[in-house]
Amino acid sequence: MPKKKTGARKKAEKQSQRQKLIRTMKDNISLADRPCNILMECDHCGTKQRNRAFCYMCMSVQKLPVCAQCGKQKCMKSSDCVVRHPGQHTTGLQMVGAICDICEAWVCHGRKCLSVHTCECPLLDAECLECERGVWDHGGRMYQCSFCNCFLCEDDQFEHQATCQVLESEDYKCKSCNRHGQYSCMQCKMCFCEEHIKRKGVVYKRNQSFPCPKCGYQTLETKDLSVSIRKHEYGRQTTAVAEESLEQNFASLSVYVHGADEHDSDTT
Ligand SMILES: [Zn+2]
Ligand SMILES: [Zn+2]
Ligand SMILES: [Zn+2]
Ligand SMILES: [Zn+2]
Ligand SMILES: [Zn+2]
Ligand SMILES: [Zn+2]
Ligand SMILES: [Zn+2]
Ligand SMILES: [Zn+2]
Repeated sequence: MPKKKTGARKKAEKQSQRQKLIRTMKDNISLADRPCNILMECDHCGTKQRNRAFCYMCMSVQKLPVCAQCGKQKCMKSSDCVVRHPGQHTTGLQMVGAICDICEAWVCHGRKCLSVHTCECPLLDAECLECERGVWDHGGRMYQCSFCNCFLCEDDQFEHQATCQVLESEDYKCKSCNRHGQYSCMQCKMCFCEEHIKRKGVVYKRNQSFPCPKCGYQTLETKDLSVSIRKHEYGRQTTAVAEESLEQNFASLSVYVHGADEHDSDTT
């Protein structure tokens, strides 16, 4: 009979679960380094693909599976193993314990890997934002957009990231007050000023980027971004000087076009 859990114990368990989740969050371990997302070359047909139990092309089982959780290929004697193999190293099918339902890669016979992996498989819901293929619909590795953090397949990752780099507000202006927005949310594609990035009642930690007041996703400092913005159209006001500076340095542009009536000039 398992012991009855006390309130404090339950609370502690919940807490540790949450911490585990935070630890496995994308920001801490990049998706590229997760063992279930590493590159595998089928030892039968040679097709390059994401780590998986069966080759995506020819369905053959790999001779040396890599654990989707801990990344090991060889098990030294360990007390953690559900199958005991004292004094013996195991590899291949003797080392594995299960196949993850989500990423379809082997999980080793270590107790921890078996109990932990499926709960926190990093490829859960890993559907490409562009082509909407899930991990079962293609054999390739998954990527994450460095701007909006969404999942992307191998084929779409570069193109998406190029288009994702664009901010909606053309002039880095704060969504709420039109002052210079020094923080940008790449999820909402908006800028926020020093004042409007903060929300009442929220305690912010030092040395941590501000979460977006709209979506809660971490914002980046606008100056750190090499964000492209749509070009201003000055129409007939365009002078040679303005055109030149547009290409050279956007920041100095407002000086040159000051007084152009179609441009609501930057007051900051
Ligand atoms: Zn194959
Ligand atoms: Zn493992
Ligand atoms: Zn073992
Ligand atoms: Zn998995
Ligand atoms: Zn895709
Ligand atoms: Zn993106
Ligand atoms: Zn503002
Ligand atoms: Zn946002």
